[in-house]
Amino acid sequence: MAIATINPATGVTEREFEAHTEAEVDARIDEAVDAFRTLRSSTFADRAGWMRAAADVLEAEAEEVARMLTTEMGKTLAQARAEALKSAKTMRFYADNAESFLTGRTIEEPERMNASGAYTRYEPIGPVLAVMPWNYPIWQVIRFAAPALMAGNTGLLKHASNVPQAALYLDTLFERGGFPTGSFRALLIPAARVEKVMRDRRVVAATLTGSEPAGRSLASIAGSEVKHVVLELGGSDPFIVMPSADLDAAVATAVSSRTSNNGQACINAKRFLVHGDVYDAFVERFTSAMGALTVGDPTDESTDVGPLATASGREDLAGLVDDARSKGATVTTGGEAPEGAGWFYPPTVVTGVDTSMRLYAEEAFGPVATVFRVADAEEALKIANDTTFGLSSAVWTNDADEEERLIAGLTAGAVFVNGMSISYPELPFGGTKDSGIGRELSIEGIREFVSLKSVWRA
Ligand code: NDP
Repeated sequence: MAIATINPATGVTEREFEAHTEAEVDARIDEAVDAFRTLRSSTFADRAGWMRAAADVLEAEAEEVARMLTTEMGKTLAQARAEALKSAKTMRFYADNAESFLTGRTIEEPERMNASGAYTRYEPIGPVLAVMPWNYPIWQVIRFAAPALMAGNTGLLKHASNVPQAALYLDTLFERGGFPTGSFRALLIPAARVEKVMRDRRVVAATLTGSEPAGRSLASIAGSEVKHVVLELGGSDPFIVMPSADLDAAVATAVSSRTSNNGQACINAKRFLVHGDVYDAFVERFTSAMGALTVGDPTDESTDVGPLATASGREDLAGLVDDARSKGATVTTGGEAPEGAGWFYPPTVVTGVDTSMRLYAEEAFGPVATVFRVADAEEALKIANDTTFGLSSAVWTNDADEEERLIAGLTAGAVFVNGMSISYPELPFGGTKDSGIGRELSIEGIREFVSLKSVWRA
C-alpha cells in the first residue's frame, strides 16, 4: 500500500510520500534512545509543562488538523474537530495525573520480611513502538503517547499508510511543546517493515490498534522477543434494548452509536438485540432515522455521514450486506453503494440475520446495523456473547435487577447503561477475547508501559 493521502470523498490522490530508508529508520530509533536518556531524568513537572504546551498547540490548530483528518480519511469536519479537542484534553489529563498514577506503594509490616522498610516504584522503560490505524488518526495515537511520554518513555509511530500527514503532524507536536528532540518519532514505513523494528533491541515494547491479523502478527513477534504488547483490535459490540427502556432515546443513541466516524470505530454498536415487545417499534423508528441521515461531502457542515476511508473498506462492507441479502436477510434501508466518485455507503439496517451469514460473525466496519429480535435478557446475552469479539457493549433498561444481570452476563471490556460506548481519559479502555489484550487510558493505561521495581531495605 502506497504511503499517500487519497481523499475518500473523491478518490483523488492528493499527496504521496517516500517511505523512510533503512538508514532513516535507524537514525530515528537512535533519536528515540537519546531522548529517553533525557526524559527518564526529567521530572513529572517538566513533562507536564511540555505536555500542556503541546496540548495548547493542538488546540490552537484544531481547525487545520480537522481539515487534514477529513481530507485523509473522510470523517466529517465536526467529528474531526471534536477528535482534536478530545486529544488535547487527554494530554492535559495525563499532565495533571501521571505523577499520582505512577506513585508506588509502601509495603505494610516490612518486619515480616526482615526489612526495615519496603516499597514499590514505577520506572519508564524506553522507546515503545505504536502501530496505529487511520480511523482516529490523532486520538488513537494520543491515547498511547500522552501517558507513555508522561511516564518518561519515548514513542515510535508506525501510522497507517493512508494518513501520512497526520503521522508527520504528530512527529513534531511534542517537540513543539518542549519535549526533547526524538521523544516522539514517526516512521514512514509499510506494514511489512514493522517486524524489523519490533525485533530491534532498542525498541522495548509495542502497542497496536487495528485489525486482528495485524495484532496477531505483531504479538507473535513480540512474544518471540519477550516484549510486552498491548492490542486494541476490532469489536462487534452489542446494544441491548429491553421493554423498560426509553425507546426514543434508545433509537436516537443507536443511530449515533452505529454511524459516528462514518461507522468506522471499534466501539460503534454493530449488533442491536431488541426485546420482542418493542422490536417492531424499534425497527420502524431506527430504519426511518438511519434512512434520514445526510450522506455526502464530509466538509459540508450539514453532512451526517461521509465516505468510508478506503475503497477496499467499502468493498468489504458491501460484501457482508450482499452475502446476508442473498441468504434471505431483509435490508430495511440502505444496502446499495451509490454511483459516482468517492467511497460512500449509506446507513443500512439489516434484519433476519442468521448464523449462515458472514454478517452474524464478522465485524461490519461501516454504517451497517444488524437487528435481532430476542425473547428475554437470557437470549440477548446468548447472542451478544456469541462472537469472537468482546470490546464494549450497551444495555438499555430501567429495571435494576435486569441491568445487573446484563452487566454481569456480558463478556466485554465495558458496559454502558442507557448510553453508548465512548472512550474517556478517566475510564480504562480495552477488550476481552479477540478484541485485544491490555488496557489504554486511565491509571491502567499509563501502567502498561512502565516497569514496577520492588525495593527492600535491611
Ligand atoms: P490494519 O490492521 O491493516 O491497519 C492498522 C495498522 O496496522 C496500520 O498502521 C497498518 O499499516 C498496520 N499493519 C497492518 N498489517 C500489519 C502487520 N501484519 N504487522 C504490523 N502492522 C500491520 O487495518 P485496516 O486499515 O486494513 O482495516 C481493516 C480492519 O481492521 C477493519 O475493517 C477493522 O475491522 C479493523 N480495524 C480496527 C480498528 C480499531 O480501532 N480497532 C481500526 C482500524 C481497523 P498499513 O496501513 O501500512 O497497512
